[in-house]
Amino acid sequence: MKTVEHQLLIVGGGAAGLRAAIEAQEKIDDVAVISKVRTLRSHSVSAQGGIAASLANIEESEADNWKKHLNDTIEGGVDLVDRDAGEILTRNAGRNVIELEHMGVPFSRTDKGKLDQRPFGGHSMPRALYAADRTGHAIVYALYGENVRHETAFYDEYFVLDLMTGDNSVSGLVAYDIKTGELVVFRAGGIILATGGPSQAYELTSSGKASTGDGLGIALRNGIPLEDMEFIQFHPTGLKARGILITEAARGEGGYLRNDRGERFMKEYEPESVELAPRDRVVRGMQREINEGRGINGENYLHLDLTHLPEEKISQKLPTIRELSMNFAGIDPVERPIPVQPMAHYSMGGIPTDTRGRVQGKEEGVTWNNLYAAGEAACVSVHGANRLGTNSLQEAITFGKRAGRFAAESVRKNHAGDVDRTTVDKYESRLHSLLGGEGSVRCYELRDRLKQTMTGKCGVFRTRHDLEEALRQIHELKEDYSKLTVEDSGKKFNTELKTALELKNMLDYSEVIVEAALARKESRGSHFRTDFPERDDADWLVHSFIYRSSTGKLKRDYRPVSPGT
Ligand SMILES: Cc1cc2nc3c(=O)[nH]c(=O)nc-3n(C[C@H](O)[C@H](O)[C@H](O)COP(=O)(O)OP(=O)(O)OC[C@H]3O[C@@H](n4cnc5c(N)ncnc54)[C@H](O)[C@@H]3O)c2cc1C
Repeated sequence: MKTVEHQLLIVGGGAAGLRAAIEAQEKIDDVAVISKVRTLRSHSVSAQGGIAASLANIEESEADNWKKHLNDTIEGGVDLVDRDAGEILTRNAGRNVIELEHMGVPFSRTDKGKLDQRPFGGHSMPRALYAADRTGHAIVYALYGENVRHETAFYDEYFVLDLMTGDNSVSGLVAYDIKTGELVVFRAGGIILATGGPSQAYELTSSGKASTGDGLGIALRNGIPLEDMEFIQFHPTGLKARGILITEAARGEGGYLRNDRGERFMKEYEPESVELAPRDRVVRGMQREINEGRGINGENYLHLDLTHLPEEKISQKLPTIRELSMNFAGIDPVERPIPVQPMAHYSMGGIPTDTRGRVQGKEEGVTWNNLYAAGEAACVSVHGANRLGTNSLQEAITFGKRAGRFAAESVRKNHAGDVDRTTVDKYESRLHSLLGGEGSVRCYELRDRLKQTMTGKCGVFRTRHDLEEALRQIHELKEDYSKLTVEDSGKKFNTELKTALELKNMLDYSEVIVEAALARKESRGSHFRTDFPERDDADWLVHSFIYRSSTGKLKRDYRPVSPGT
């Protein structure tokens, strides 16, 4: 079997993984990035609207500073933000953006030549730095170039299956080469998981096909808890039925949301911030309009109206949005409103880490020695119960960088551990049995059923009844998964096999999302229980942690919100 060795492995080539790699390469010079898709196709590339920092560059944001950014973040996150992590994010945001600019990100500028900033929901001032509506694309390409300069090793199209672990530390991982179908063992002194979000568990989602939360499944299999998984963010403006995002910047630049009567209904729900309230509130307003029959033609979508904006503004600041809605909906937003509906977008929860990116164990206060996580896969808890737009790219950069730095420092002392034959054998036989199985169930059918369950029973509005039903259905799906067979027996680019492996992860963390949502008997941020519609600080101002115990049962535990320094 092929075995590869590096000092530090980073799983994931999105904004978090690439930023981590640059930082680590400055300290050690043997860093590898593994990605199941081509690195430059990681989901970060699709980020549109911007990246937050209180640079105070324009007149409307002159009075801005990191404390205001922190306050907005905490308020938007409905007080579930860890203050220490939030402070690190907002204090360092400006410097991190300037660094990106020096790496070559072509941020849009004001007439005076300063980096421009635009408004985003929940931010009290214009704070989003942006490169038109292609911010993620610009950032990923700049970070990739910087990695090439640093001679980072890239393993594109390798699917990471599991970690090799022992005693709260990792010695490497097992992956399979999608191009050849071969298992490959990677040994290392440390690992950073930067595997992105889990939104593909939902039917309608703005996330890329690769956002199947593999890191979350891997964490659960290794007894690592997942934190705050009940908080899934639904984005207000997905292009109807398409899974394509229409950035919040469209509202930041002055777009309106309208119902079937042409009314700007958000005025009713949020008289002050209207369309620019935090996402959870806008989505609930939209869903109520739809549920009460005021969707367009009584259907489950609404209108995003930009027709009152000058054509020049749309072309300059939202060129991709115009292009996407012309290509995928046949609508030029200069002339007609865009049909939009809420869709699953982002996970506030994830693999718990401390502010150095170190993964936290199932016992409170215990961290893993050389395992780190960053980006959307992680929960350092800067978003609390609801993330503000543009804070995620900043989180991926800030905490990716920190994870890279601290992991590099720790691997200087660690040597790559031994190959764990048991894990390798396990996956060898798993692949063998999936490929050679005689079961009757196909993965695509199971995947679609899971997506329907999550969308129908664990969406914007939740009830005990629906969540219990979701749990029952997921248990059934897991049972069916054991009868799964992969019909395509080819070795090269076997996408059916890849989907089957992703589905295992999706089933595992979806169960945790539902368990966490069922347990939290209050409404906070993106988690809204119609049977417990109020926020309840007395009982629920806590983070939830769920892990799989050695008996195979899910266990729950709650930890306090960090007060900060
Ligand atoms: C359409 C869209 C627009 C957005 N716009 C904005 C915005 O304007 N501002 C903002 O702040 N946020 C935005 N977000 C959110 C933000 O872009 C993401 O949360 C962030 O980019 C995630 O970065 P990441 O590095 O954690 O993960 P990703 O960029 O998702 O990368 C994950 C990486 O992990 C790899 N990977 C996953 N599983 C495996 C495996 N099993 N084996 C090997 N490799 C694996 C993938 O190949 C990929 O390289 C947007 C999100 C979407 C979907």
